[in-house]
Amino acid sequence: MSINYSDLALEQIACHPGSVGFRAVFKLLCDISDLLPYINAIVEKAYYFDSPHYIKFEYEGYRCVLYAQKGIMTVVDNEEQARTAVGKLLEFLNDIETRKESITPDHTMYSPVSAFSIYKLLPRNNCKACGFPTCMAFAGALGTRETDMDVCPELVDPNAENVIALKDLLGG
Ligand code: SF4
Repeated sequence: MSINYSDLALEQIACHPGSVGFRAVFKLLCDISDLLPYINAIVEKAYYFDSPHYIKFEYEGYRCVLYAQKGIMTVVDNEEQARTAVGKLLEFLNDIETRKESITPDHTMYSPVSAFSIYKLLPRNNCKACGFPTCMAFAGALGTRETDMDVCPELVDPNAENVIALKDLLGG
């Protein structure tokens, strides 16, 4: 099976205050559900979910989310960069596909961290700079890895106690 894509589209997102980027969304032309546990085994920090069935990981500096027949890569600046990034990701997936026989699949699912545990470590000023309406909404998204800590401008000091505690809670 060779994995290909179609229907690449860019969706604008707020990255950091004062800057914008895009997420590249594309359709996968075959169902890669069976491949997800193999990706989980290969990628050092992957987050594998069963409902809905998808996997989230970093590849070459991009946050990647793969569903059975859909992929998302974040953050890209333009369509050319998106095509290059998606092309490399598909090469990676096709390589895993060809090596499946020699890889032991990892079916371990990721357990999200409770939003309230995260919320207690946030600035809790609801400034919306992260693009979420409240710190609690951001906490919920962080717990399921739909966003990243550095999206909040108040969480950039690596020596701050709450930042260290959050990294521990989220597994780095
Ligand atoms: S998480 Fe950070 S950026 Fe988002 S609303 Fe709270 S303080 Fe503001």
